[in-house]
Amino acid sequence: MRNQFPFLGTEVLAASHSPNDGHANPRLAAPAIARAARRAGVGVFENTQIVHVEKEGADFRVIGDDGRVFRAPILVITAGAWAGLLSAQFEEPVPITALGPTMSVTEPVPYSIRPAVGVVTSVEAESVYFRQILRGNVIIGGSTRGPACPAACRAYVLPENTLSQLKQIQRLAPALGRLNIIRVWSGIEGYLPDGMPVLGPSERVSGLFYAFGFCGSGFQIGPGVGETLAELIDTGTTDIAIDAYRIGRFATPTGAALTSGGRLSARS
Ligand SMILES: Cc1cc2nc3c(=O)[nH]c(=O)nc-3n(C[C@H](O)[C@H](O)[C@H](O)COP(=O)(O)OP(=O)(O)OC[C@H]3O[C@@H](n4cnc5c(N)ncnc54)[C@H](O)[C@@H]3O)c2cc1C
Repeated sequence: MRNQFPFLGTEVLAASHSPNDGHANPRLAAPAIARAARRAGVGVFENTQIVHVEKEGADFRVIGDDGRVFRAPILVITAGAWAGLLSAQFEEPVPITALGPTMSVTEPVPYSIRPAVGVVTSVEAESVYFRQILRGNVIIGGSTRGPACPAACRAYVLPENTLSQLKQIQRLAPALGRLNIIRVWSGIEGYLPDGMPVLGPSERVSGLFYAFGFCGSGFQIGPGVGETLAELIDTGTTDIAIDAYRIGRFATPTGAALTSGGRLSARS
């Protein structure tokens, strides 16, 4: 492994390599998927906050903040860290918490690292990853997450988290310590207490499905989640074992709401 990836630090004692894995830029990939959906006839309504969801007869009635009403026989709630606000309207509250993953990007250096490289331990601060893009910049992620405020649509990078991330990344690849960080950022992500998403049908309302709370891995597994949900909705079943992700695992005897993400405010 060290012959193939000489940038690995001496603390790295073992590694696994998955040559078919890849990485992509979400700012390019996600809109590309939206454009493909539009070409397939999907209506995409941007800057429309859904404030009310209910089942009325055989259909769902979904109301936007501009008063627009949408009706459909199937409803899929995929509202990320804000999804608890909608699932609670069907009496399926979830203990979802919003956090902001810590991200940094270095100055560009000659492109030489093809795989995404990461380490996962039981210590949050130690679990870091990096990937180099063709332009040469190295994108660093993982380690301690910062606070996020879903109601204000804001996530915050704490300087101490960036410093701890850089300390940990140098254990994995010491040479990265010599590069300048040119930018840091974060975003709002939903986390559930067991680190697993909510995925599958509602346990109270027929025709209602959930897919949210990806706990930091949603870009990676999103396409597979979409395919699995489509199969489940279309055929009523799927070969993929998703029972561990059922929303009912958070049900309380009283149905009391646990924590949820806060009110979604107007977005730019
Ligand atoms: C900084 C950062 C780095 C990450 N790095 C990685 C990584 O390296 N690999 C990886 O696999 N994952 C990564 N993730 C996680 C990944 O981005 C998420 O898991 C993924 O985006 C979740 O997708 P989603 O569609 O469920 O939720 P989101 O992407 O949060 O999308 C939910 C959407 O629903 C909208 N919405 C919410 N409420 C409403 C409402 N009431 N009405 C209308 N719209 C609503 C929101 O505006 C948002 O657009 C990272 C996340 C962050 C923030």
